[in-house]
Amino acid sequence: MSAGSPARIPLVDLAAQYAAIAPELEAAALGVLRSGHWVLGPAVESFERAVARYLGVPHAIGVASGSDALLLALMALDVGPGDEVITTPFSFFATVSSITRLGATPVFADIAPGDFLIDPAAVRAAVTPRTRAILPVHLYGLCADFAALDDVARSARVAIVEDSAQAIGAERDGRRAGAVGDLAAFSFYPTKNLGAAGDAGLVTALDDRVAARVRRLRVHGSEERYVHVEVGINSRMDGVQGAILEVKLRHLDRWSDARAERAATYSALLRDAGLDAIVALPQVPAAARHIFHQYVIRTPRRDELRAHLARTGIASEVYYPIPLHLQECFEFLGYRRGDLPESERAADEVLALPIYPELERSQQERVVGAIADFFAGR
Ligand SMILES: *Cc1c(COP(=O)(O)O)cnc(C)c1O
Repeated sequence: MSAGSPARIPLVDLAAQYAAIAPELEAAALGVLRSGHWVLGPAVESFERAVARYLGVPHAIGVASGSDALLLALMALDVGPGDEVITTPFSFFATVSSITRLGATPVFADIAPGDFLIDPAAVRAAVTPRTRAILPVHLYGLCADFAALDDVARSARVAIVEDSAQAIGAERDGRRAGAVGDLAAFSFYPTKNLGAAGDAGLVTALDDRVAARVRRLRVHGSEERYVHVEVGINSRMDGVQGAILEVKLRHLDRWSDARAERAATYSALLRDAGLDAIVALPQVPAAARHIFHQYVIRTPRRDELRAHLARTGIASEVYYPIPLHLQECFEFLGYRRGDLPESERAADEVLALPIYPELERSQQERVVGAIADFFAGR
């Protein structure tokens, strides 16, 4: 960086959040280290109770990652070869690999262009006698249309598994992410709104027996040590992660509100600059609490804009550049470019701007100023 050029604006600033609550986090982690309960144990159980209360669900099961949470949720429904799971191609890879790893077939329903979320009408059209579950993703922190998806699931008599990895605390029509589907998967990857100090995830379930099954599946299908009633996997949450997550959970609503405020500031600044006529801004349905895991704009000139921002020291990211139906590893599914046009267009046009609770207004003004410069040809 040359002398006098302004500081880089990162996409997220995990160090700032850590510094703000370091004493609390360090005391919690040290407590677990000294206790010797390093895998599962009391810290994980305590977090499971706290997060179940927060989400308004009867059962929360701590696991090793969000990817495992998706896999375990589908395992608990006995999803396997011959079964179809309807999902979105516009998501993180694990949404779909959880299905294919079980030998089941992902069936893609396209997104609605306005909110990037799976289109319930497309889901309805994709139902077949082999459909076992619907796997919507609450992308960027906004819940999919619960009411419409619930309707489809009920009439088709199939389960809903929510990919809530980006949506802890998000709400729509008075219902909270994770409390609508038969099961839901959450990720506590460090950059998520609630982030661990490493990998961690959570499965939630409404039904007692399904929840007990997930608990068993996360420890190799065993309830009594060395007695295995079925083949599960090893996917346990570490005690240190449970302790850290329980501390951070107490701050989560404040952080998510701060993100939403920053999102509102971006939208206001972009409108004031007349840029809402040039780039599409995130839309928030009236009855929704969007937790703004990401603030995503769209423009056909995305790649040029991204390069311009990088030159001025502003980070940005593309979630996600290749829709999942076009990933090489899923070629065997037989999809081709053009099959899911809205997802394909979104993959070419979306751009996530820096957003985190500690982001300052002056930084947001710089980001919007740089976007204005780009479109003015400056
Ligand atoms: C992060 C994420 C996952 C996977 O979570 P990990 O904890 O990284 O395994 C799954 N789905 C979505 C939508 C995600 O954003």
